[in-house]
Amino acid sequence: MEKRPFVTKEKLEEIVKEFPTPFHIYDEKGIRETTRKVRQAFAWNPGFKEYFAVKATPNPFVLKLLHEEGCGCDCSSLAELVMSEASGVTGKDVMFSSNMTPWEEYQKAMDMGAIINLDDFTHIDYLEEHCGLPETISCRFNPGGLFQMSNGIMDNPGDSKYGFTRDQLFEGMKILKERGVKHFGIHAFLASNTVTNEYYPQLAGVLFKLAVELVQETGIDLQFINLSGGVGIPYTPDQEPNDILAIGEGVHKVYDKILVPAGLGHVSIYTEMGRYMTGPYGALVTRAIHEKHIYKEYIGCDACAADLMRPAMYGAYHHITVMGKEDAPCDHRYDVAGSLCENNDKFAVDRWLPKIEMGDLLYIHDTGAHGHAMGYNYNGKPRHAEILLKEDGSAQLIRRAETLKDLFATFDFCDILK
Ligand SMILES: *Cc1c(COP(=O)(O)O)cnc(C)c1O
Repeated sequence: MEKRPFVTKEKLEEIVKEFPTPFHIYDEKGIRETTRKVRQAFAWNPGFKEYFAVKATPNPFVLKLLHEEGCGCDCSSLAELVMSEASGVTGKDVMFSSNMTPWEEYQKAMDMGAIINLDDFTHIDYLEEHCGLPETISCRFNPGGLFQMSNGIMDNPGDSKYGFTRDQLFEGMKILKERGVKHFGIHAFLASNTVTNEYYPQLAGVLFKLAVELVQETGIDLQFINLSGGVGIPYTPDQEPNDILAIGEGVHKVYDKILVPAGLGHVSIYTEMGRYMTGPYGALVTRAIHEKHIYKEYIGCDACAADLMRPAMYGAYHHITVMGKEDAPCDHRYDVAGSLCENNDKFAVDRWLPKIEMGDLLYIHDTGAHGHAMGYNYNGKPRHAEILLKEDGSAQLIRRAETLKDLFATFDFCDILK
């Protein structure tokens, strides 16, 4: 599918007059429309809730917007819990899906009345010892082995650090019930960035069968099944986007086939999508400031991997549009690089693009999830601003750019910068 920016060149030219490049810009309209489609896809399940994975786009303005559309927050750290609470999302609207968790973080989640999703069998004792056990608890399942879909997409749960084994899950639920826990949920995250409508229905099949056996064997009151995240987006133009309505219908079929006949037709379905909710509705806007002709052709831009780690970290593809040249022939081959002293600081390698002039605005697609959030401060590069393009066409600064003062703030014992 052709990839087009959600903002026009004229609009961007207007925005950069007020907010200098580089910055991430998010599309309120796209995010809201997506939440509504997700709700529609799971409307057959009265208890359905999407707990947005805060780590994807940890910004209170984004969390509030999602909360207005009925989403909760999925947190995995103290900072994410605090940010959710500050954004007005608390209580059962918060799922705490963490791992290797320090007890102070469990305590904060308990204080907020969040639902705790335990990552490990040994955390039953750990949680009870430090914080006591809540009334409702969820456990994360790891089936081990390989998880494979018919289109060849595969992930390797047996090699991942998360979750309970099957035996631990049965044993753990019995123990939790004996120790007074009243309501239960189960959770699993088996494959990441799946661009296929099959993933959730297949995962649902695994979890629903497990749920029936768990209830039969342990007699727990199972209230929800959490399909977690992993629903992907098409980063490359040749990929077809997921159809969330088809995904919802796929889960519905499996629900009717497995849970309903087992008397579990009251169980709520939860999701913890991050990437799918915001990924396509964010972009990194940067300006071309250098061209360099050595053994290859380089374009240097004013953003760097501090703003977007995915290409450097995973070799991930992010599509680039040269603003105003959408229909120009892609007859120049470039490496598009940032300024870090690190050779993998490249947003694109051997990418065919239209001829780039100095000052051109580059629009790097699909940075709305795991984009700004994964940024870091190597070379002392400050992370840049986040802007929300509102439905009425105005642009709102929702996080200012970091300054050197922010970077040096932890030297609070000296006067390095006043
Ligand atoms: C990262 C994560 C998610 C979100 O994953 P996406 O691929 O962005 O949908 C959900 N739940 C947990 C526990 C996670 O760690």
